[in-house]
Amino acid sequence: MSRYEVVIVGAGHGGAAAAIALRQNKFEGTIAMIGAEPELPYERPPLSKEYFSGERSLERILIRPPAFWGERDITMHLGQRVIAVDSDAHWLTLDDGSTVGYRHLIWATGGSPRRLACSGHNLAGVHTVRTRADADRMRGELDATTRAVVIGGGYVGLEAAAVLAKFGKQVTVLEALDRVLARVAGAPLSRFYEAEHRAHGVDVRLEAKVDCMEGKHGRVCAVRLADGEMLPCEMVIVGIGIVPAVEPLIAAGAEGGNGVAVDAHCRTSLPDVFAIGDCALHSNVFADNTRIRLESVQNANDQATVVARGLTGNPIEYRAVPWFWSNQYDLRLQTVGLSIGHDQCVPRGDPATRSFSLIYLRDGKVIALDCVNATKDYVQGRALVIDGARIAPEQLADPATPLKEMAVSA
Ligand SMILES: Cc1cc2nc3c(=O)[nH]c(=O)nc-3n(C[C@H](O)[C@H](O)[C@H](O)COP(=O)(O)OP(=O)(O)OC[C@H]3O[C@@H](n4cnc5c(N)ncnc54)[C@H](O)[C@@H]3O)c2cc1C
Repeated sequence: MSRYEVVIVGAGHGGAAAAIALRQNKFEGTIAMIGAEPELPYERPPLSKEYFSGERSLERILIRPPAFWGERDITMHLGQRVIAVDSDAHWLTLDDGSTVGYRHLIWATGGSPRRLACSGHNLAGVHTVRTRADADRMRGELDATTRAVVIGGGYVGLEAAAVLAKFGKQVTVLEALDRVLARVAGAPLSRFYEAEHRAHGVDVRLEAKVDCMEGKHGRVCAVRLADGEMLPCEMVIVGIGIVPAVEPLIAAGAEGGNGVAVDAHCRTSLPDVFAIGDCALHSNVFADNTRIRLESVQNANDQATVVARGLTGNPIEYRAVPWFWSNQYDLRLQTVGLSIGHDQCVPRGDPATRSFSLIYLRDGKVIALDCVNATKDYVQGRALVIDGARIAPEQLADPATPLKEMAVSA
């Protein structure tokens, strides 16, 4: 059995960032990463954007060049999955039956795409988007696709729909709720994106209920809606969220459920075991201290830094301000803060100009911004979110006054 000072499970954003941050913080012990995918760590966001569209290759989405990991003495076990954790003995069992020992364990496994339970969900041509292999499969079927149905109007589904529309496919987006992006943004942003997609020829259906997928010779040929309507298609993309990949840790006794519970130092309830990224259920100061999982590169990177600092004797608590982006067509959305629980949404600028922001308030304090082609607002609004600034809505709404010039009373 090999043994390392630090074993990182998951060679994605959080895992890579943890290894990088450990070395940057002068950690000199042995480090190994165990990752289920065969690739060296790569950026996941382009999978529904520039990688899917073919604008960026795998080489151009690698988090670090291939030589980096060896130069930093970081051992890679790729294409291997951890299936069990023995937290008393401090060792892991891999899917090939081998075992790996650890002094400290960093769990950075993200999640697997939530799947539809309806009949036909596993037909060929029905895709989820989480890995490079998923994106390659979708790209490989583009030429044979005229009509595509995207199930789920969240960021991943809408980004994939935008790429498909740009390729001239007939695209239908099916959203179960009464607006797209309902879980992450205010209604004005949803309405704006619905209109943008429709302007690009996408058929956006709200409150749509999928009954099943119909197949022919093992391949999907249509999506049937609950009202009986058939949507003929050659490709289906299902983007309905993820299930955090925490089974081995929970089976080992870690607290959690929808993710593994961590404290402000990203420690789980198991000794010497940390969790970071999409799978970490943490209490977030920007969500009124409620326990959430954040699915963002920012969260994975910042939690990785928290763990690396803790393991190198310079601990900090996780208090990073959340931020996120989404590219659809020629629209760059940048968000800062979390709009969950807002009681006011102030528009700043005119959506018709395709450059505007929405500023979210709770109890009079700025808690988040969604900025569409409005990078200045995004950059300047950050401080307002961090400070929980109280600014009159009329003032916030005036695009002639830069956000950085607004008087702040926290
Ligand atoms: C299509 C898409 C678009 C996105 N767009 C954006 C965006 O625009 N902006 C943004 O901020 N975020 C975006 N995200 C989210 C972002 O990619 C994630 O938040 C980020 O990757 C989380 O990092 P992570 O390390 O927690 O998980 P991941 O990056 O998913 O890495 C987890 C790794 O662990 C592996 N693994 C799982 N279980 C095991 C196991 N038992 N043993 C070994 N390995 C295991 C997985 O195979 C995976 O490689 C997007 C995600 C997707 C899928």
